[in-house]
Amino acid sequence: MRGSAGTEVSFLIKSLLQRLGLDDPAKIHKLRILASSASLPLDGENEGHSLRYLRDLFAPYGTSQGPGDPSTQEPRFWRDCVVPGKPHLDQVPLAKLPRDPFEALVTASDAKNEGLIRNVPRTEQVEAALAKIAAALGLNSGDAEFVRNLSRRAAEILTSACIDGDNVRATSIDRLADKLFGDKGAAKALRGLMLARALPESAGHKADTPVGLPPFRFHGLIRNVEGLFGSVDLGNAGIRVGDLTMERGVSHGKPPSVSDGSLVKRAGTSYMQTDMETLRTFIERHQRLFILTGAGCSTNSGIPDYRDIDGNWKRTQPVRFQAFMADELTRRRYWARSMIGWRRFGQALPNDAHRALAQLEAIGQCQVLLTQNVDRLHQAAGSREVIDLHGRLDLVRCVSCSTERRRADFQDELVRLNAAWVELEAAMLPDGDADLDHLDFTGFAVPACDACGGVVKPDVVFFGENVPRIHVDTAQAHLDRSDGMLIVGSSLMVYSGFRFAQAAASRGIPIAAVNLGRTRADSLLALKVEERCEAALSFLL
Ligand SMILES: [Zn+2]
Repeated sequence: MRGSAGTEVSFLIKSLLQRLGLDDPAKIHKLRILASSASLPLDGENEGHSLRYLRDLFAPYGTSQGPGDPSTQEPRFWRDCVVPGKPHLDQVPLAKLPRDPFEALVTASDAKNEGLIRNVPRTEQVEAALAKIAAALGLNSGDAEFVRNLSRRAAEILTSACIDGDNVRATSIDRLADKLFGDKGAAKALRGLMLARALPESAGHKADTPVGLPPFRFHGLIRNVEGLFGSVDLGNAGIRVGDLTMERGVSHGKPPSVSDGSLVKRAGTSYMQTDMETLRTFIERHQRLFILTGAGCSTNSGIPDYRDIDGNWKRTQPVRFQAFMADELTRRRYWARSMIGWRRFGQALPNDAHRALAQLEAIGQCQVLLTQNVDRLHQAAGSREVIDLHGRLDLVRCVSCSTERRRADFQDELVRLNAAWVELEAAMLPDGDADLDHLDFTGFAVPACDACGGVVKPDVVFFGENVPRIHVDTAQAHLDRSDGMLIVGSSLMVYSGFRFAQAAASRGIPIAAVNLGRTRADSLLALKVEERCEAALSFLL
């Protein structure tokens, strides 16, 4: 891989990878990158820089199958994919060269002073310059092999000047000019030396280029805009290019320090830089945000998510309202699992995603925060304008007389009545549920309502149950006053949340989403950041 035509080359490499099936995680270990040492140094302080470059180039839009893929997470993964080349070079001792003949060769070859050399013609001035160059380099300009000999010698000199340590490096023009001509400003003379190397390729001095002779060129790099990258998708209608991102030099700036661990930290987010900056702009431009959050917001607080990145159920669906109301055994099973799960769920603390959204409200940009979560962690982080769309798990309510109780008090009673169950440890599921399906629940005691003896239910909206109308109407009223929608950590697979995205889209309110994986609203989004919520919103803290 060479650096200069990076965009085109990366497109070609990516489509090649897909055609070869090397984007399959099971085959990714077969991927090897032949590294030219000049453009991809893998030693010393440059190693982290190069590995991050490879990761950024290939992982997000090439070989990675998802955010959990090791090729996405760990730049070290790419170290094993690189086969560094060892150059075989004949190094020649460098003596200071005279500038004049080399500059004269350039002047004579650019008779119209275009700044562009199309040919090195056989003119008197050119031949005079070449004779002086021959003398300076100890060559015979009358020799039949002179053009080839000069080309070889110029290549040896240029190569030797580019050697740093035991390898060839891309070397700045200033440095080369200083090394070869004793003057950093001798760029024109350097150009003459490169012209001498290219002499067999010019129409005026046509000759066979000696086999294996390296070419040289000046690289002009605009470090801010290295290139436009995209994913190549082999669809039915031919190659499709999507997910275009601007590589803004995040991989080309100062190499990150490897020793203090910051490489790993930066590597996890660097390729999202562009998306995150766009998100920042989105948030800055919308002063009355309608914020809709889901389970992804709380995963970093230790509360698991219902769905995987494709929006599918990770396990069996949670209990449905109808089953809970109709069947006493279902209620016993629900409360047994809930009693075990509550111990950890009740202790969950807000994370940086909650804090970032609370901060957004503090600076006056939050019209309302509508959450599908029942964990109250937004309130714990300091958000005030919150609608708990699906209720709250810290309360229980009688379905007959609506008397409410703190869940913590109800928990104490559950524990008192079911001491034998307390020792059970189980994997925690969302909504404070625990995985105890294999047990017999007939002996589990569930307290009835103190006031009327009715069925007690957590104050959350079960699947199969309607969201309270008041929540929907209040949220709709806020949406009418909003100028942008921000979805954080929700796949919107549940209609009660999705309908607000639909409503925003129909009102022409732009929507941005932060979510790992697919959302039901993908086609409605103005911007999507596939990143962990707390990382994507970290700029707010
Ligand atoms: Zn009651």
